[in-house]
Amino acid sequence: MFGEGNAKARLVFVGEGPGREEDEQGRPFVGRAGKLLTKIINAMGLQRTDVYICNVVKCRPPENRNPEADEMITCGQFLTKQLQSISPEVIVCLGSIASRYLLNSKASLGSLRGKFHPYGNSKLYVTYHPAALLRNPNFKKPLWEDMKLVLKELNLPVPGD
Ligand code: URA
Repeated sequence: MFGEGNAKARLVFVGEGPGREEDEQGRPFVGRAGKLLTKIINAMGLQRTDVYICNVVKCRPPENRNPEADEMITCGQFLTKQLQSISPEVIVCLGSIASRYLLNSKASLGSLRGKFHPYGNSKLYVTYHPAALLRNPNFKKPLWEDMKLVLKELNLPVPGD
C-alpha cells in the first residue's frame, strides 16, 4: 500500500502503516481512523485529492503491532523518495511512529508538537494520530488547533476564523 493523492501536493499526511482495510483495499486511511482523517481534511476546506496521504510502512504489521525498526528502515526508503519527489511545503506526521521516524528522534509526541521542524525543503508538523482521537475525544480540539497552524503556514483560509 503505497499512498495516494496529489503528486504535487503542498501538504502531505504521513501515518504509521496500513490496517486491515487499507491492506485489503490498497489505499491509505480508509478504515475508521481514515474516515476521521477525511473529515479533518474536509474541515480544513480541502479534499483528499488536494493532499497526499501515505504511511511509514507499506505493509500491514501482523496483528496491527507497531512496525519494527528494520521494517521502518526498509519501507522508509520509499517514504523518503515519495517526500523528495512531492517536495511539499508541509508534512504532517500523524502520531509518534511517523514523527519519530522522520525526525529520527525518540522525543515524545507532546514535546514534538507545537512547532514546525525542518525536513529537507519542507516543514514538518507533528500531531495526534486520528486513531488516538477515536480513543480519546479530548484530543480533537488540540488537533484542530494544529491544523489551523498548518493552514496558516500554507497561507490557506482557516474555516470558521
Ligand atoms: N493508520 C495508519 O497509520 N495508516 C493508515 O493508512 C490507516 C490507519
